[in-house]
Amino acid sequence: MPQKRASRQCVITGNWKMHKTIPEAESFVRTLTPLIESSQAKVCLAIPYTALSSLSELCKILKSFLILGAQNMHAMEEGAFTGEISGQMLIDAGAKFVLLGHSERRKLFHEDSSMIHQKVKQALINGLQPVVCVGESQEEHAQGKRKIILEEQIQDSLGGLSADEIVKIHLAYEPVWAIGTGKTATPQEAQAAHSFCRQVIESQWNKEVAQALVIQYGGSVNESNSAKLLEMSDIDGLLVGGASLSPISFSKIVNSVNL
Ligand code: PEP
Repeated sequence: MPQKRASRQCVITGNWKMHKTIPEAESFVRTLTPLIESSQAKVCLAIPYTALSSLSELCKILKSFLILGAQNMHAMEEGAFTGEISGQMLIDAGAKFVLLGHSERRKLFHEDSSMIHQKVKQALINGLQPVVCVGESQEEHAQGKRKIILEEQIQDSLGGLSADEIVKIHLAYEPVWAIGTGKTATPQEAQAAHSFCRQVIESQWNKEVAQALVIQYGGSVNESNSAKLLEMSDIDGLLVGGASLSPISFSKIVNSVNL
C-alpha cells in the first residue's frame, strides 16, 4: 500500500464551472449518490452558487456524503462589491470548501497570486477550506519554467500563513495546457510536479506540514487515466472539470480510487 494512503486522504473533486441549473444539479446528485456509496475517497463538488442551498438540503435528505463547495469568492468580508459573494454567504449556503486561483480566474478575470492570498485568508477566517490551484501555462511549460512558476505561485498565494493554516489547505496542481485540452500530464510528469510542490512547502514551512498536505491533480482527467494518476505517491486526489459533468463518468473516476 503506498505510503500516501496511510497519511493523506484521497480526494476527488468535480468542478462544474458555469454548468447546471438547480434541477440539473439535483438530478446529477440523485444519480451519483448510489453509484459511489462504497467509495472510500472524499468526494467533493465545486458547483455554481445558485445550486449550493438546494443541493446541500438534498444531500441531507439522501444521506449523501458528498461535500459541496464553490468555485470562487471575494477577498473582503462584506461591502460595496456588486455581483460578488463572501465567504460567510458561501458557508451559509452549505459550502465547505472553495476553489481559489483556478487558471480560468487568473486568466479571464485577471486574478493574481496576491489577490488569491487575500482570498485564502478570508476563506480560512470563515472556516472554508481553500483549494488553491497552481500550474504553468503552455508557454511556460515549453520554456521549462514549471518549477519557477510553481514556486512563485505557492509563495505568493500562501506565503506568511502559519503551519496550522497551511494544513487546512489543499493544493491542486493544474497545468494550464492540460485543462480542457484532452492533453493530460503523464502520471510521471504530474508526480514530479507534486513532489516539487511538496518540497516547496517543506522548505517554507516544515516536513510535517508538507507530508500532511493533500495535492490534487487536475487537467483532462477522465475514467481512462484516473487510476494511473492516483497510483503516484504524491498524487492524493483529482480535480475534474469536463468529466465531472456526467454522473456516470464522474462515478467511474471516483470508483477508480484503489485505497
Ligand atoms: C478544471 O477546470 O479544473 C479542469 C481540470 O478541467 P478539465 O478536467 O476539463 O481539464
